[in-house]
Amino acid sequence: RIVMQAVRDASGESLKGIAVTVQDLTREVELNAAQSRFISNVSHELRTPLFNIKSYVETLHDLGDQLSPEEHKEFLGVANDETDRLTRLVNDVLDLSRLESGRAVQFEAMNLLPAMEQTLRAYRLNADDKHVKLELDAPEDLPEVLGNWDLLLQVLDNLVGNALKFSRSGGTLALRAYPWPDTCPVGSPNDEQAGPSCALSSPLPRLRVEVADTGCGISAADQERIFDRFFRVENAVHTEVGTGLGLSIVRGILEKHGTKVSMASEPEVGTTFWFDLPLGQADVDELKLQAERR
Ligand code: ADP
Repeated sequence: RIVMQAVRDASGESLKGIAVTVQDLTREVELNAAQSRFISNVSHELRTPLFNIKSYVETLHDLGDQLSPEEHKEFLGVANDETDRLTRLVNDVLDLSRLESGRAVQFEAMNLLPAMEQTLRAYRLNADDKHVKLELDAPEDLPEVLGNWDLLLQVLDNLVGNALKFSRSGGTLALRAYPWPDTCPVGSPNDEQAGPSCALSSPLPRLRVEVADTGCGISAADQERIFDRFFRVENAVHTEVGTGLGLSIVRGILEKHGTKVSMASEPEVGTTFWFDLPLGQADVDELKLQAERR
């Protein structure tokens, strides 16, 4: 945008010149476009379950006495499932907008192990039903991280929920945490592609968290879009419940923690998501002390 302004002398009577300002609005225009795209996507996604609920409830209302008890049950079941879908969508959209509102997040030194245990406990029944083995792999004396308990719990929940959703009967789902670059557990992905490289040196040790599954995997083309809002792999759209917002939320929460989520996947073999967290304040202080003593 080019803005032109007349520049007058102190009395304001005679014209001294013209000031020309050039403003780069690219970012503003891009943000506005992204916002309208988001609103239009949300509206589109809300419309489908609303339409389904309306159709089934209307049929029950208008033709209820001509329907069999089984049909009654089926129609109410669909309306119930669609209400759940609507709730999930609204919750996810609210979570995303809260993350983007720029509101400050409270961080504290916390132990991630109970959060990992709580997450796996919540999926235990579902995993048994699907015949998927859940594994927790973390040392008892896991160092504390600096994080927000509720938000990190949500990250674990989304990643473990996905890993289970896309697992097949007989598969294994592992939730791991370990400090690195100091230690790397045997059996964890150990190359740059699939996970940490123990040879890499980081100025401060961090806690690495991994969620690994032996599920259907994600094709190279889909991997590029996996973190896009509302993106769902074509076959997942028809078979599994989801909003396509879970990974955007994971990414947003980890950005708030100053870190990012990475992923490696091979179709028909499985997928691993991982991220690093800064160690808790106590550890950071201790590290500084050690460095000073050296
Ligand atoms: P959704 O609510 O659909 O799970 P997400 O944003 O969490 O939304 O994930 C987007 C898509 O990424 C999923 O629909 C699925 O196609 C794919 N995906 C995510 N995690 C996995 C996984 N562990 N294995 C295979 N595909 C996955």
